[in-house]
Amino acid sequence: MNQNATREQIVAALRAGHSVYRINKDLRADRARIRAIRDELGLATYVPREQTRTIEDKWRLYAKPLEDGHMEWTGERGRTSGTPLLSFKDKHHSAAAVAFRVRTGRDPEGYAIADCGMKHCVAPEHVEDEPGRTRNREQLRYVLGGRQRKDRCVHGHDQAEHGAYGPDGKAYCRECKRLAKQVAA
Ligand SMILES: [Zn+2]
Ligand SMILES: [Zn+2]
Repeated sequence: MNQNATREQIVAALRAGHSVYRINKDLRADRARIRAIRDELGLATYVPREQTRTIEDKWRLYAKPLEDGHMEWTGERGRTSGTPLLSFKDKHHSAAAVAFRVRTGRDPEGYAIADCGMKHCVAPEHVEDEPGRTRNREQLRYVLGGRQRKDRCVHGHDQAEHGAYGPDGKAYCRECKRLAKQVAA
């Protein structure tokens, strides 16, 4: 552990209301040393705001509604992946997984990700877990009836605009998928 974080830095962080845990992470200063300084200055023990609200409440602070029902994440993101993250009680959660809980009241099975075409969308109505994605693919197979991709789908949507291929290589129509989801919702 780096003991070179200055006392001033630690005091400033404590006065800013940061937790010992966070200061330890940010400044790489020893926790016992941070606590000692805090107690010496008579500063209050950090009470996480999370204790007064649920993870879903905290999620709502960062989920910004956009047009077409999408939601943009204004909070923290994974450094390389850009994945929306929500820290709650000193743990990182996938914002999409919390969005899934907002809609369904349960944790996702497997990964929850947006299934609406907008990368990293966190709209509760747009995120699906693995069984949900499988269900959507089954609906697609039914809608398409196993046909090969043509200029227009069975419902007349232009495939130059709406055509796509699923992870299994099958052609599908994004517009039909959208409509099928509305029916299922
Ligand atoms: Zn979306
Ligand atoms: Zn279609």
